[in-house]
Amino acid sequence: MRVVLATHNAHKVAEFQAILGTELPELEIVAYDGPEPVEDGTTFAENALIKARTAAAHTGLPALADDSGICVDVMGGAPGIFSARWAGHGRGSDANLALLVDQLADVHEGDRGAEFACHIAIVVPETGFETVVAGTWRGRLARTPHGGGGFGYDPLFIPEGSEITAAELTADEKNAVSHRARAFAEAIPVLRTSLIPD
Ligand code: IMP
Repeated sequence: MRVVLATHNAHKVAEFQAILGTELPELEIVAYDGPEPVEDGTTFAENALIKARTAAAHTGLPALADDSGICVDVMGGAPGIFSARWAGHGRGSDANLALLVDQLADVHEGDRGAEFACHIAIVVPETGFETVVAGTWRGRLARTPHGGGGFGYDPLFIPEGSEITAAELTADEKNAVSHRARAFAEAIPVLRTSLIPD
């Protein structure tokens, strides 16, 4: 069964295919290449649903979409849905990271809690089924970036129970515990019951 993934990011298609392929070999993940929706939701869940509904509407296929970001406790959950463009549209992840380092420069050690969040929306046009599942990854933010792995805010994020940043973990180590891995774990049984006939 074909399932469309509402992203133009080939890396994400490969990641979804790798994780879901092991658990749900019946599913073939295909990339969405239709018109981009306006992501004007105010939560990760809303934005994930907007993307999945658009892909489902344009392809007629069951659709998956994710929306993710970093939420800093002392900032009331920001950058949140603005994580990808925190330093401004088109500025990129180095600028986003540098801005966050600067904003948190005076924040004490015990007040640097944060979490990554990933929400995955599942929309099945044939049945009208829609749901959103989520995964979070708690940690705290270092004062300066460390490590060359991962992407985005990984060099600043020290996962709970760890003394090194997410960018210092191997991809396998990160993928075993990350917010995305946890959201996938929630999504798999839902996909199984909503997509695969008994
Ligand atoms: P998107 O879900 O691909 O739009 O990602 C939103 C933004 O959140 C990314 O551009 C990153 O800045 C941040 N982000 C999401 N997941 C991660 C992660 O696993 N590590 C580091 N940054 C992340």
